[in-house]
Amino acid sequence: MRKDGIFIAVEVADEAAADVELARRLAEACPVDIFAQAAGDALEIVEGSLDECVLCRLCLDASPPGAVKVIKLYDDGAELA
Ligand code: SF4
Repeated sequence: MRKDGIFIAVEVADEAAADVELARRLAEACPVDIFAQAAGDALEIVEGSLDECVLCRLCLDASPPGAVKVIKLYDDGAELA
C-alpha cells in the first residue's frame, strides 16, 4: 500500500501491511500519527498526516528491513534510509 502527500509518500509492503502486530507498533511509533489501525486492526496510512513527517526513522526501526519506505517527494523521490 502506498499513500502520497505533497512532500512525503509512505509505502508499506503488502505482507507487512497485513501484520496486525506490526500495525500496532507503527501506530505507536510514529510521533505524528501517520500510521493507524483501521477496522479489524489492519494498518492504515493516514493521508492527511503524511506531510507532517519529521523523518525520525522510528517507523523504519519498528519494522523489518524494507517493509516500510518513507519517500521524499521533495527530493526527487529519495528514500529515507
Ligand atoms: S519517519 Fe517518523 S514521522 Fe515519518 S512516518 Fe516514520 S515514524 Fe512517522
